[in-house]
Amino acid sequence: MFLEPHFKGQRSGWIEVICGSMFSGKTEELIRRLKRAKIANQRVEIFKPKFDTRYDESKVVSHDSNHVLSTPVENARRLLELAKGVNVVGVDEAQFFDRELPEVCQELALRGVRVIAAGLDMDFRGQPFGPMPHLLAVSEYITKVHAICQHCGNLATHSFRLAHDEGTLMLGEKDVYEARCRTCYNMGNILNLKEEDNNKAGL
Ligand code: ZN
Repeated sequence: MFLEPHFKGQRSGWIEVICGSMFSGKTEELIRRLKRAKIANQRVEIFKPKFDTRYDESKVVSHDSNHVLSTPVENARRLLELAKGVNVVGVDEAQFFDRELPEVCQELALRGVRVIAAGLDMDFRGQPFGPMPHLLAVSEYITKVHAICQHCGNLATHSFRLAHDEGTLMLGEKDVYEARCRTCYNMGNILNLKEEDNNKAGL
């Protein structure tokens, strides 16, 4: 459970990151934090990268349809203009933002803003995703949430892509990705490689 630091004197800003695999409840956790800040009458704004239009242009929609209104933005730098006078800035799908996101979040925190960013820590190849590693390094608080492995029921940390398709920017649904633990993720990759070898050999 995340506990906010206690304020002593002047209010200062900070960065929180919620990371994990697909289906781990990152957006739900982001929304939970933002809703509580709203109840306390804080000015809350949520931003997401413009091209993520899977569901609704104007909403951060988590998979259980628990939504909060949000603004799609073209790039990280736009947050500095749009977040003027805002107490809490939520950033959803942070992994799809450009490399300037960590710098922008730090600038907002220096202004006294509480920044809460949610994003995938790894892509489907198991590599650190976009600006996330840098953002994690410069943040004050990190929460890694876990999905449940769809194969064995252990805690899942990896997003396994079922479809054979190149490019990291494929937006996910349940028929394209599976949440997997390290072992089942690795097993899946080995089986895929064998399948590719067999195809090449014409078997
Ligand atoms: Zn597993």
